[in-house]
Amino acid sequence: MSELTNNQPDAAPADVIAANVAAVRGRIASACERAGRDAAEVRLLPVSKTHPVEALVAAHAAGIDRFGENRVQELVAKAELLDPALGIEFALIGPLQSNKAGRAVEWVAEFQALDSLKLAANLDRRLQALGRSLDVLVEVNTSGESTKFGLAPDDVLGFAAGLGAFDSLNVRGLMTIAIPSPDHKQVAACFQMLRGLRDRLRDDRVAGSDWPELSMGMSGDFELAIEHGATCVRVGTAIFGGRPPVAG
Ligand SMILES: *Cc1c(COP(=O)(O)O)cnc(C)c1O
Repeated sequence: MSELTNNQPDAAPADVIAANVAAVRGRIASACERAGRDAAEVRLLPVSKTHPVEALVAAHAAGIDRFGENRVQELVAKAELLDPALGIEFALIGPLQSNKAGRAVEWVAEFQALDSLKLAANLDRRLQALGRSLDVLVEVNTSGESTKFGLAPDDVLGFAAGLGAFDSLNVRGLMTIAIPSPDHKQVAACFQMLRGLRDRLRDDRVAGSDWPELSMGMSGDFELAIEHGATCVRVGTAIFGGRPPVAG
């Protein structure tokens, strides 16, 4: 199946984005079928970082309601530009510094990169004041690369137990970025590790959660991630085209 992507930092035309959304949905459905899974178990989270709001509006017209962004500032800037009537929501999939926690709580529907109990306490306090809750996923560094954010796999169980103290955090699961390698076995090992950790957390109902979500898989590896149990795939390039190399 052809991939209608480009290498321009500018917005891809709306019809290209719509075709890309349809193509990725088709690939998700095929991967689910091969894995004997129900396609309704896997949600597509398009990652719109570096792309202008016009690109989000085009994807929204193709049925997308929630977008992933990896920087709070960029997320908030886009959220403020968009017409609230569209009902577009954002998932923060990158690191959050405590001085931006207030902005994040205001604009983020879901935070997928939690890796600090201090930040968890900060978010919980702000959410309690607002009388609302926030869906969170714990980010795990499954690749062992030192440049990546996320918890070391050995620290996940202890960290997760600590999350039980924060009533306003709705603990949904785990997120990882797999090793960027052409070797499928190495990539699959990252996905397997995340799933193994999730299964232990679920079986023990750690922090009172069933840990339903496994957010793993990006443009280059989402089909493999679905084979290994992904419930959320974060797809940027295959939908919006290429990004300038400095971004991300
Ligand atoms: C940018 C990004 C993605 C999407 O990457 P693509 O390879 O463009 O699909 C997914 N997850 C995270 C955390 C990202 O920062």
